[in-house]
Amino acid sequence: MLPAYLEYYKPTSLYEAVALFQELKRANKQPMYFSGGTEVLTLGRLNMDTPGSIIDIKGIPECITLERTTQFLTIGASVPLTVIEADDSFPLLANVSSEIADRTARNKITIGGNICGKIFYREAVLPFLIADSHLLIASLQGVHQIPINVIFNKELVLEEGQLLVNIRTESHFLNNPFISQKIRKQWETGYPLITGAAMKVDGALRIAFSGICPFPFRSPAMEKEINNTTLSIESRIENAINHLPEPILDDIEGSREYRLFVLRNLLTDFLLEMEGYNG
Ligand SMILES: Cc1cc2nc3c(=O)[nH]c(=O)nc-3n(C[C@H](O)[C@H](O)[C@H](O)COP(=O)(O)OP(=O)(O)OC[C@H]3O[C@@H](n4cnc5c(N)ncnc54)[C@H](O)[C@@H]3O)c2cc1C
Repeated sequence: MLPAYLEYYKPTSLYEAVALFQELKRANKQPMYFSGGTEVLTLGRLNMDTPGSIIDIKGIPECITLERTTQFLTIGASVPLTVIEADDSFPLLANVSSEIADRTARNKITIGGNICGKIFYREAVLPFLIADSHLLIASLQGVHQIPINVIFNKELVLEEGQLLVNIRTESHFLNNPFISQKIRKQWETGYPLITGAAMKVDGALRIAFSGICPFPFRSPAMEKEINNTTLSIESRIENAINHLPEPILDDIEGSREYRLFVLRNLLTDFLLEMEGYNG
């Protein structure tokens, strides 16, 4: 539950933010970082988060940067999804982000909040998993850059008080051929039944998913099977599906069997499109 009196802080440097977190924790004030705030407020109202103090990170320059150089695209953790869409430096990311929630919510939802959030879909992480991006993480010990495929395992594995600062992607990934598809049970907004994102890198397809399992993932074992062009498309898809991580979701949005049916169709579309069968 959100208490009637919540302490609010807006630090202007990384050190101030991480030091404040530890200080508030020692004072038993249950601190939480606050980026777009949509999830903090939603889970707070549902009594699932119980912050006693919040640390708004939108005053920290490194968290609100959006910078493209010849080598990298760097996106601050507090950049809203609509800003990423309008910028369009990374079209696969812009496409995936533009399918999350509605535009009004996306004006608030930030890239870092989506990736660090407790609600497990975290769709905006998919393009970064595919592009082997790097995350800048701050703690009292300083800042460290860590490959996303090392530190993101079902969720972003942070120690208490660590802060995601920004995400860096090498420029040569940004404009590779890609496809993404979000399939919902119904309506035009809402959480996915399945979202898939794929990109061709050096002739091979990389794929990541949200909605199949209770966590987003990219699977090298699935990619190996999908890229085995000595087999038929049907065999490649079946072999890839045999490497799905468990558990596969079976809930009110869709049964396990229905999700697998949708996944087969989605992978068929991806392969036909990315391997040029659709002209
Ligand atoms: C109407 C609606 C529909 C949605 N639909 C979808 C959807 O279809 N797919 C999807 O993927 N998402 C969807 N979302 C978004 C979603 O599930 C998350 O709630 C949202 O992305 C959180 O972003 P935020 O910036 O508001 O995060 P916040 O609420 O600020 O933070 C979320 C969590 O991350 C922590 N945190 C935030 N920033 C950092 C940081 N830099 N370092 C460390 N920890 C941090 C916070 O402490 C908190 O625990 C939807 C949200 C809404 C409101």
